[in-house]
Amino acid sequence: MKVIADLHIHSKYSRATSEGMELEALSKWAKIKGIGLLGTGDFTHPKWIDELERKTIQSDSGFLTYDGMNFCLSAEVSCVYLQDGKLRKIHLILLCPSIEIAQQLNEALAKKGNLEADGRPTLSMSAVELCEQALEISRKNLIIPAHAWTPWFSVFGSKSGFDSLRECFGEYEKNIYAIETGLSSDPPMNWRLSKLDRVQLLSNSDSHSPEKIGREANVFELDRLTYDELYDAICSKEKRKLACTYEFYPEEGKYHFDGHKACKVSFSPQQTKEHKGICPVCKKPLTIGVLSRVEELADRPAGFVPKNAVPFENLVPLKEIIAQALNKEPTSKAVQNEYLRLIEMFGNEFAVLHAADGPLLKHAGKRFAQAIKRIREGKVKKIAGFDGQYGQIIIFDEEEAKEGQTTLGAFG
Ligand SMILES: [Zn+2]
Ligand SMILES: [Zn+2]
Repeated sequence: MKVIADLHIHSKYSRATSEGMELEALSKWAKIKGIGLLGTGDFTHPKWIDELERKTIQSDSGFLTYDGMNFCLSAEVSCVYLQDGKLRKIHLILLCPSIEIAQQLNEALAKKGNLEADGRPTLSMSAVELCEQALEISRKNLIIPAHAWTPWFSVFGSKSGFDSLRECFGEYEKNIYAIETGLSSDPPMNWRLSKLDRVQLLSNSDSHSPEKIGREANVFELDRLTYDELYDAICSKEKRKLACTYEFYPEEGKYHFDGHKACKVSFSPQQTKEHKGICPVCKKPLTIGVLSRVEELADRPAGFVPKNAVPFENLVPLKEIIAQALNKEPTSKAVQNEYLRLIEMFGNEFAVLHAADGPLLKHAGKRFAQAIKRIREGKVKKIAGFDGQYGQIIIFDEEEAKEGQTTLGAFG
């Protein structure tokens, strides 16, 4: 069966997240998006795991259910430690086969940091120690480097990361079966490192608010909807149970290019080299983004496709597409109304984004259908994100954008 999974989100117990990140809204929005399996996020937080235990139905599958939505126990931890004289800060995703095992893991991790302070706790332990403890508690626990390329807090990050999985995980490298590519990188960028051929490239939303669930996701082909099957799909790449991933255009992510947000400087890797990594405005070192790091560590040219590559699709969030088709703000009432109308019509967001031309034209109009076609063909203008500022995907040029309209239907 085909299951669309988003395995990395946060609850309301993480810092800087929406109060709405509760089971009710999570299930509701997962359905609106077309997600069939959602990470719980934050199982390390005592209050959240308590809620999960009380409010969800637990079965032999290893997943939890709430209001018809399936949840996989997931968490993200921030390991902060010194290695080889350098301060390392690494975010790691944990997936866990049962509440009991998650509780045992929490007991062990509570000795390394305050789990109550943040749904994404900071732990004074190395990635190696974390693997050691998690795998000792259960061989079925999964450790997955989160947003593997972002400058801060990631395994390959320019600020506090490593140059290889081996350097970070040592003897536990073999237990790292997947990495999360993050919003600012896509599979083709990761294919440029032969060392990553072995691992699965997963995509998740890392969402802090209900509406952003599923902005990136994984499409699995599972025999049954169980944790064991998911584990198998992630660990046994040759079985090809990861069918496809849904990706942001990496340019839209916050750290694709290098630069300084405050100085309004955005550089490609080539420009950064020309400026020797220094900001021409403030004369301080630039924040080196994801593309530069990939180029630094790559052993293959851009465009290389490995034999066992998993296919992927670039998606743009539906609200953004509607906003551009209507030439209005994504937060406007008109966009909101059209969004709900299309969800009602097609069933969920992924269904709208994948609808055939005929129904799109009929129900959403010519301009919207044209937008979807351009996204599918990659014929969009991309302005790369840098130093924490999101990039932009521009579907219609300025002249086209001015051709205002009132509703999508009006363009039928
Ligand atoms: Zn993170
Ligand atoms: Zn600067």
